Amino acid sequence: MNLQQTIDDLFLSQRNEWKLLDTAIKQLDNVKVKDFEWSGGARVEVQFNPARMVSTSAKIDKETIEKRPCFLCPNNRPKEQKEIPFLDKYLILANPYPILRNHLTISFRSHVAQRIRKKIGDMLILAESLPNYVVFYNGPKCGASAPDHFHLQAGLKMPILLSGENELRSCLVVESDSRKDVEDRFEDVYRYLQRLQPQEEEPMMNLIAYVEDNNYVLHIFPRKAHRPRQYYLEGKEQLLISPGAIDMAGLIITVREEDFEKIGKEDIEDIYFQVSLPVL
Ligand SMILES: [Zn+2]
Repeated sequence: MNLQQTIDDLFLSQRNEWKLLDTAIKQLDNVKVKDFEWSGGARVEVQFNPARMVSTSAKIDKETIEKRPCFLCPNNRPKEQKEIPFLDKYLILANPYPILRNHLTISFRSHVAQRIRKKIGDMLILAESLPNYVVFYNGPKCGASAPDHFHLQAGLKMPILLSGENELRSCLVVESDSRKDVEDRFEDVYRYLQRLQPQEEEPMMNLIAYVEDNNYVLHIFPRKAHRPRQYYLEGKEQLLISPGAIDMAGLIITVREEDFEKIGKEDIEDIYFQVSLPVL
């Protein structure tokens, strides 16, 4: 049985055994979405997904992270959550707060920090094993709510997530039929970004990887801010949006109905402008 079938079976059995997950997936069926389009061809979808509040409002300062039990470590995971081993190093888990269909968390077996540099090859192997999926990575200051425990995420492909470059934000596209080639070119980009942000433990970025027509495709979204200023405002001025890979790719998640209703094109342009790092 291939990995995608194993995962389909995982979701079938988990939905029977785990009420929280089943409810969350049913809610995703009824989630509200609105669409924006720009004259240059850029498109953005906005999703209203209140279940993501925990992730969007997660505090990730060092003290909070050190004090809280890590929700990716086996002892603290929900008892209903089953796992599929991958590459002897990872556990594939159903994500109980889905944004995408078949939303997965791929958690490293041990508690090591969120750093992608040496694991980009694993990410591409996962994308190759899951041709119907996008695999994504949120840097420790770019949307990861567990910056202390390495993890990837994945979910079924949506056209909006595959669109790559557009005028709203920076996106570097690496594409090749050779995995090694993509790894090498990622390393070049990594070094370049590192020179722009020498103060960071890892250059700020989000990644999306997938395989299409036997090509590995990697979208790199360089970042300069964790959250836009609207996140920290109060009252009517506030927009509780904390962008990760999926938001950068074009599917913006709002967790409060008021934000979903009021967000407009100018807000979206402004948010991307604030968090996206221009390159080249
Ligand atoms: Zn952990």
